[in-house]
Amino acid sequence: MTDRYTTSGLISVEDARKVVLAHIDLAPVERVGILDSFGRILAQDISSDIDIKSFDDSAMDGFAVRYGDFSAAGEVSLARPFSLTVVGHIGAGSVFEGGVAPGCAVRIMTGAPLPEGTDTVVKIEDVQVEGTSAENPAGKTVRVPFVPEQGANVRLRGEEARAGDVLLHKGERIGIAGAGLLATTGNAEMLVYRRPRVAIIATGTELVDVTQMPGPGQIRNSNNYSIAAAAIAAGAEAHILPVVGDSYEALADALLSAVKDHDFVVTSGGAAEGDFDFITPVVRGHGELFFNKVNMKPGKAQTFGIIEGVPILGLPGNPSAAAVGFEILLRPAIRKTLGYTQLDRPVTRAILKEGIHKKQETRRLYLRARLERDDDGQYRVAPQPNQSSALLGALQLSNCLLIVREGLCPLAAGAIVECLRLDIEEGTI
Ligand code: AMP
Ligand code: MG
Repeated sequence: MTDRYTTSGLISVEDARKVVLAHIDLAPVERVGILDSFGRILAQDISSDIDIKSFDDSAMDGFAVRYGDFSAAGEVSLARPFSLTVVGHIGAGSVFEGGVAPGCAVRIMTGAPLPEGTDTVVKIEDVQVEGTSAENPAGKTVRVPFVPEQGANVRLRGEEARAGDVLLHKGERIGIAGAGLLATTGNAEMLVYRRPRVAIIATGTELVDVTQMPGPGQIRNSNNYSIAAAAIAAGAEAHILPVVGDSYEALADALLSAVKDHDFVVTSGGAAEGDFDFITPVVRGHGELFFNKVNMKPGKAQTFGIIEGVPILGLPGNPSAAAVGFEILLRPAIRKTLGYTQLDRPVTRAILKEGIHKKQETRRLYLRARLERDDDGQYRVAPQPNQSSALLGALQLSNCLLIVREGLCPLAAGAIVECLRLDIEEGTI
């Protein structure tokens, strides 16, 4: 049996994050299809195999004309419209065969290639077509009551890109436009950073599954589900493994098996120094322990180490302490492996609605809180009344963590405080 009381000193939140991130590498790359790439970070530059578009086309429904015809026409006005003979009719996807001679026009739809000889498009709304309808106008006359601008309503070949141009760069996140750009550039598959596989292991002899009715002294295991949800939200693949009872050997076996096919292992419970808390001794006994106490509340009892090259984070058992610990220490690590470079959630400064009357607190507080914006645009924040780390309801009602830096409590109503936004992504401005 390994020494039970092998703890580190208390480490600051900033140092804990640094230690965790220092042991995290970029995930290996994988080749995926466009929809699988959505929301992920490119591991390669993406270039186009063609000019986009690869032909000049019409931006409007109207008539393709030769600008030169107008300059030769003398005065053109509503009273003296310029008449052209319509020699054809094309929509997107078809090509006008042959050239367009002087004095002629082609009825053209948005996206159709400009017929040879034409260089300008006049919108359908701006002309008069002989007869009652503009449909099948070949042979009819179109009257244009003004001189258009040369090149009007024409989109030039290569406006978006030339063949060989890089349109998306390694390190960029594929968004909505990116998904379309991948398609338009002919890239059905591309390299992105693989989603890390996160093993989630709850520890505690008192735990029963969601489908079971807890007996005396038992509780349902909620951490596995909120931790898995947090892992998925961070971009990881979440694998819930069987619950482990409070035994050194059982936890050691579970961790040694989980590290074989996972990129991270996250446990919850057993992270403090109670008689049945084993994550610290197991990490120390089978790998390297970096810390097991972080100067934050909730979430003081957090263990971080490496076993067989795989990072292990031991979160506290109390549900909202586990969720806050994940947010502060593991979410940035998961995003780093995915290729994100923005690892800090946005912080909004807000007016404290009511005073925080806690006694002086030497730890960094992360209070579950609700941030709102008044009609005048001013942000105001109120901590949830019950800050027990055993409760999930207060976190469910929160959209931020109100940060109270070490030693700054109590705080009076009206103070300006920092709110770590849980409702918006890192890198949002
Ligand atoms: P521990 O860190 O193991 O001392 O657990 C602290 C508190 O969190 C105890 O009240 C546990 O019963 C509770 N707890 C531990 N694991 C879970 C879990 N997976 N789901 C819900 N509550 C838990
Ligand atoms: Mg326990």
